[in-house]
Parts: sequence; structure tokens; C-alpha cells
Amino acid sequence: MQPVFRFAPSPNGLLHLGHAYSALLNERLARTCKGRLLLRIEDIDILRCKPEFEHAIYEDLGWLGLQWEKPVLRQSERFDAYGKAFACLKDMGVVYPCFCSRKDIAQAVADHMTEEVDPDGAPIYPGTCRGLSLAEVHSRINRGDEHAWRLDVEKALACIDEPLIYERFEPDQNNNAVKSISAFECYSLRWGNPIIVRKETPTSYHLSVVVDDAQQGVTQVVRGRDLEPATDLHVLLQKLLGLPTPVYYHHELIRGGQGEKLSKSLFSESLAELRAKENTPEDIRRMLGFY
Ligand code: GLU
Repeated sequence: MQPVFRFAPSPNGLLHLGHAYSALLNERLARTCKGRLLLRIEDIDILRCKPEFEHAIYEDLGWLGLQWEKPVLRQSERFDAYGKAFACLKDMGVVYPCFCSRKDIAQAVADHMTEEVDPDGAPIYPGTCRGLSLAEVHSRINRGDEHAWRLDVEKALACIDEPLIYERFEPDQNNNAVKSISAFECYSLRWGNPIIVRKETPTSYHLSVVVDDAQQGVTQVVRGRDLEPATDLHVLLQKLLGLPTPVYYHHELIRGGQGEKLSKSLFSESLAELRAKENTPEDIRRMLGFY
């Protein structure tokens, strides 16, 4: 089977060196494995994603010399598919509506005096809406109360009768070959009951990524180490939805001069800025260790 890789940026800011590293690594590994490289635009966040950033993604990647298959999948065109997957989870009874605001959660967390946080550093949801009666849920939904949907991870785990594991793989030192490393066990409970459908968007990163990796036949997921814990949830969702589990490699993050994580929200130097300073695509490749 021909391996399928993907690079999946969100057009909510300009790409920086961290994205370039991820894109180039995907390209290099796809070439090494005689695989395919797909690009996916992760634009479910309609408030923060902008057409000019999507355009900049094509421009930056093209400038770097990358080629990808067309048409490019854009998540904003896939809400029907996410809706179907969500309906499946609903039928299984593993999701529940959550009417809490951020403030409600902060208050409940303070009342419970828990310090537990999920791998993203957000407080673990204290479960306020988990036990609401069906009558209350219906009446609140009928009166139009805004709500998200959370995955009841305990219930979800009870539906799965196989071990929750996934395979990891690793490139060799020069990114010229890959070796697989053994099965890795998931620990989905560390996410509490995460949001699976948001209030403002009828999906979430976790749901969309799982549906699309399967739809696009992705077999190798190569992405930053910051997303490694999310894989625990992704594998759980794949099992619930009967979707295949790709193999994963979570690469080191590229850091700035002060050792900080590069981020769009911190205005890390963008590829466009580096280009404007007369850096060539070869300079960028060299900086990132691709010769
Ligand atoms: N869209 C995510 C990001 O830009 C990447 C998601 C993934 O690779 O699974 O960070």
C-alpha cells in the first residue's frame, strides 16, 4: 500500500519556521517512502481563519519548493461529514450537551478546588452537565440555550473491546528512512470530557482531523510534539467511528532564539518576513537541517 502523508495547517496566521519544518519533513518522508503528500486546510474556526492566510500558505509552500496533490481539502467544506460522524457518536450515547460558559467552568473548578489540567493546560471539566436529566436537557435545548457537546470518555471506553494502542514510527538521522517503533498505549482519560462539537462551530479539531485523515486515506501522520497527547483522543474516536488508525510520528518543535515555542499568536517571525529579508528557500532548508 502506498503511504499517504499530509500537512494540515490552519489559515489563522502566517506560517513560521515550525510549519516549514513540518511541511518539509512530510515531503522528505513521503519521497523516502515513495508515498503521496496531501495538503489540508484546517479552517473550521470561521472567526480566526482568513482567505489571505490560506493564500499565504499556498504561496509560502510553493516558494519552499513543495508540491502537493490537488484538489486541496478544505475543512470548511466538510461540515456535513463531521455532522454524520457526530450523529454516530450521539447514537452511541457517548456525548452529552454542555451549557457551561468559560466562567461557569472556572467557578466550578474553583469550588471543587481541583488543580487537574488536561495536556493543553486547561482545567479538566468538572462534569457539571454530565448528570443533567433528559427533561432538563430537552427544555434547555428547546429554549435555545447555547451548548457544546462533550465526549463522555468513560462511556466511550466502555464501548471499545480492543486495546487502545497505536503504532509510532521514526525517521532515521538524515530523514532518509523510517523505522517503526512498537505499539503505544493511549491514555484518553487525561483529557477529562473534552469538547467534541463546539458552541460556535458544529465540529472540533479532534473530530474533523479524525474524519478527514480517514477520508483522505492518510496512513502516516507527521506533526509537532505538541499534538502528541491529542493522539490518545484521536485513536479513541477512530475506534468509536470504525475508522483506521494511521501510524504517527510527532517531531520536535522548532524553537526561537530564546528557546520559546514558535507561535502565530506570539507573532514569531513568519516565512514571508524571512523571504522579505532576502532568505532563499535553500537558506530555510539549511536552517532546518534539510540539505
Ligand atoms: N491544524 C493543526 C495546526 O495547524 C495541525 C493538525 C494536525 O496535524 O493534526 O496546528
